Amino acid sequence: MAKSVEGPVFKKITEAATLLNTDAYVVGGFVRDLILHRPSKDLDIVTSGDGIELANKVAELLKVKKVSVFKTFGTAMFMYHDWQVEFVGARKESYRTDSRNPQVSPGSIEDDQNRRDFTINAMAISLRTDDFGALIDPFHGVDDLKNKIIRTPLDPDITFADDPLRMMRAIRFATQLKFQILPETLDAITRNAARINIITKERISEELNKIVMTEKPSVGFYLLDETGLLEHIFPVFTKLKGAEYVDGKGHKDNFKHTLEVLDRIAPNTDNLWLRWSALLHDIAKPGTRRFDPLSGWTFHGHEFKGMKMIPAIFSDLRLPLNEKLKYVQKMVLLHLRPIVLSEDVVTDSAVRRLLIEAGDDIDDLMTLCEADITSKNQAKVKKYMANFEVVRSKLKEIEAKDNLRNWQPPVSGEIIMEVFGLEPCRQVGVIKTAIREAILEGTIHNNFEEAYQLMITEGLKLGLTVVRQHLT
Ligand code: ATP
Repeated sequence: MAKSVEGPVFKKITEAATLLNTDAYVVGGFVRDLILHRPSKDLDIVTSGDGIELANKVAELLKVKKVSVFKTFGTAMFMYHDWQVEFVGARKESYRTDSRNPQVSPGSIEDDQNRRDFTINAMAISLRTDDFGALIDPFHGVDDLKNKIIRTPLDPDITFADDPLRMMRAIRFATQLKFQILPETLDAITRNAARINIITKERISEELNKIVMTEKPSVGFYLLDETGLLEHIFPVFTKLKGAEYVDGKGHKDNFKHTLEVLDRIAPNTDNLWLRWSALLHDIAKPGTRRFDPLSGWTFHGHEFKGMKMIPAIFSDLRLPLNEKLKYVQKMVLLHLRPIVLSEDVVTDSAVRRLLIEAGDDIDDLMTLCEADITSKNQAKVKKYMANFEVVRSKLKEIEAKDNLRNWQPPVSGEIIMEVFGLEPCRQVGVIKTAIREAILEGTIHNNFEEAYQLMITEGLKLGLTVVRQHLT
């Protein structure tokens, strides 16, 4: 183990601790990741002395100028090259059932390990001179790493009741590391699920996002569902569950389908918001479901209604209410368009319309649509994928020809008003629409000269008179 804590950072921590007559240990994620051969430069240092004092001393020895100190938490951190090093005094925590805030008091390294969430996160490596590099593993975290098990160091009911976010962390680590949660630990999550409600939405979403960003996010979502956590943190999503039957005809289970889409998109994108789009693309299906004796189950308008539901979902989960929200709304609104396109003869005008509406996000939209094909019928999947290839090449061809991404009308409203001597009025809109439609239909090209000519023709048709020519 000693070899793994080589380098100036560790050396200076030992030196500083000796000078201050105290001790220091690397704890938590760094040790876990070291054993898993997942190199990390994120160091958590615990001392039984004063964390802030130790941080300042190490910074001095490493000639680091800026130390950020969080007095209320008794922590301090600094950056040394690409290392992020955080210091804290060892703590002992005790909780009362009526409060979510622990009573924290100084403690030993053992106390500090006891209050950690999982055995695999409760290991420490000594940086003391007498046993430098020794692994301190009171809960057999190494065995659990080897056996790929998530287990709490103490009674899981106590661990989860103390800090209910740990339930989500258990599921997040299981998903990220492809580990199993010990059955007793999983049962305790189910028993304590309702306590998640005392946790802030921000902390919950942070964990949820980490699950969304794993290689196979469905694993985490099924665990969240199975334990009852999902119902508390994201109830609208659980409404996708199940399939209804009328006259023996069912529709697919949209919960399963959505998670399949999320898994299918994961290898193709690390864009968290495209993954959220996959998660929400069918969110309005339960609310738009109808059974028609002739055509079977329909979900008319679910893309529009889904787009409308997203602000409330983002607001509830404290996700950003900015351009990320708009992006997800756009993806959900447009998610059927490439499929509709591929089912039909792919006309140039339909492709132009899609290019204008999707703008720079057209490639992401295609990625979403390809992930959305989850049929068991391989022949069907093959056909759709082949059609998408046609749509993709058509998109490329039309884009190269017409330059329609982030399209702006070649003749502006100002020019129309100038040429016909108009104030803002309905006729300006009529002419603008006629130009846009002509470009989309391919009757004119997407350039100023042809659009200007059409503007004159359309204006005259409306009985307008040219009062001045626009000079470019
Ligand atoms: P990642 O960097 O992937 O999020 P991590 O384990 O490093 O994983 P952090 O949130 O940085 O996660 O936590 C660092 C360490 O602090 C953990 O390894 C664990 O020992 C401890 N820890 C973090 N959150 C909790 C918690 N809610 N309860 C108990 N211990 C925790």
